Amino acid sequence: MAIETPSKAASTLPILSHWINGRPVEVLPEQTGPIYNPATGQVIGRVPRGGASEVDAAVKAARAAFPAWRDTPLIARSQVFFAYRELVWRHREEMAALITRDHGKTFPDALGEVMRGLETVEFACGLPVHLAGLNTPNVATKVDAFTLRGPLGVTAAITPFNFPVMVPMWIYPIALACGNTMVWKPSSHTPGASQLQAELWKEAGLPDGVFNVVYGGREAVTAIVEHPDIAAIQFVGSTPVGRYVYEGGIKAGKRVGAYTAAKNAMIVLPDADMELTADAAVAAGFGSAGERCMAQSLVIAVGDTAERLRPLMEERIAKLKVGPGTEPGMDMGPIYSAEHRESIIRWIDKGEAEGAELVVDGRPFHHADNPDGFFLGVTLFDHVTPEMETYQEEIFGPVLGIVRAKTFDEALGLINAHKYANGTAIFTTDGGAARRFKLEVDVPMVGVNVPIPVPAGYLSFGGARDSSFGDLAMRGEDGIRFFTQQKMVTERWPEPGRRGALSLVFPGNS
Ligand code: NAD
Repeated sequence: MAIETPSKAASTLPILSHWINGRPVEVLPEQTGPIYNPATGQVIGRVPRGGASEVDAAVKAARAAFPAWRDTPLIARSQVFFAYRELVWRHREEMAALITRDHGKTFPDALGEVMRGLETVEFACGLPVHLAGLNTPNVATKVDAFTLRGPLGVTAAITPFNFPVMVPMWIYPIALACGNTMVWKPSSHTPGASQLQAELWKEAGLPDGVFNVVYGGREAVTAIVEHPDIAAIQFVGSTPVGRYVYEGGIKAGKRVGAYTAAKNAMIVLPDADMELTADAAVAAGFGSAGERCMAQSLVIAVGDTAERLRPLMEERIAKLKVGPGTEPGMDMGPIYSAEHRESIIRWIDKGEAEGAELVVDGRPFHHADNPDGFFLGVTLFDHVTPEMETYQEEIFGPVLGIVRAKTFDEALGLINAHKYANGTAIFTTDGGAARRFKLEVDVPMVGVNVPIPVPAGYLSFGGARDSSFGDLAMRGEDGIRFFTQQKMVTERWPEPGRRGALSLVFPGNS
């Protein structure tokens, strides 16, 4: 069962278990690392440090479970998904509480995460339709053709700290719906809700071995990348690790999709509704402490826009409430780890040193009731320019920079030249400018007056350039393609007693 938030001595802290072949696999305390509650800074549990042997045990279980799961009739498979959907819905608050406890994001934000993950589970319920092939009778005399999509075998998911429920739910429902089995390696920073997800799959009727969870870090990831019996991996996380998983996985003959870092920018044109835009920029910049791959980190203000927008943003920032995510009314919780908090502070120092104007400084913030919590206030820079490292690199914290551009073309050029390409948005009342933006911006996920354009759960999600490795996005139509092998069948059933003459000519379709 999922761990509680105790105030116990370290020796009695609850220890999470791997989940292999439908049951928890316990580990010794010396094989574990700490789980922190970032709001208090306290260690609240222990997470296993799995490696090659745990990955191998999970792969063996997944491999053994594969033939029966592959051959399970589609409706029976789909019924497991409907049951899982109901169970997640029933346990949504428990799941959200575990997210808030481990990650620090506010409880309503965590609940929103569960709901956005659930959308993909709901999409997967329709698997009989998603897996339907094309059928073309009579492609030649007495010859029919059809396509079918079959599973790949054992697949793996490696996921980040920032969405411990939603991101895995964008991967494993699709993999399982397609008839694959799965080994999931969650982030060790936010593992609390993983075991609950495994338990709910079991309760939903998923056969043992189809869904396995192994905790760990680099050693477990390397074991997944190199394991000869894993056919495909979807990874979500930072760009260096994503590149390693992609290149290593491809070298080992696997299908790999890696969805990685971002530095999203929103363009604001002078005709935009400034009140709405200020709300959007502050929400998209600082929601979840900026620890979202779809957070807006740069506001590219065109013409005189910054003069009007900046005071409105400052007004809103002054009212933001930062505190424990469990406390009602908070806008932003702590940073997920002490190390990451330090890294964000170093980035703010750097922005200052590079010459950006520090409008709001989040560094001095301390939460009086939780002095050991990993809290940070929000930071707003102005006059950020493309030469600055704080413009080029992902900070992944509550740090938002205003960039000034003279024209729409200049702003568009900046977005298209950035090494990251995950999400983007335009704020305007000009339909023509918005249309040009949609067509000409070289970023896959685009918002028009929508600051965080995360596509609905039945659509695909993925970036480009250094934000993504591999040819297909996650979930939606791309997800089905990723987790299946298409076969093209050409079939002839000769009529009894009729036989053509032997011919060595390349067969035509007539
Ligand atoms: P991370 O790369 O540190 O970790 C991701 C996964 O890799 C985790 O399971 C982790 O245990 C493992 N890992 C970490 N270091 C490793 C190493 N050296 N070798 C092998 N495995 C390792 O990422 P994170 O800090 O957990 O997540 C934040 C990052 O994820 C940000 O860059 C963010 O933009 C990105 N992200 C991207 C998307 C997307 O869809 N593009 C979505 C969410 C998060």
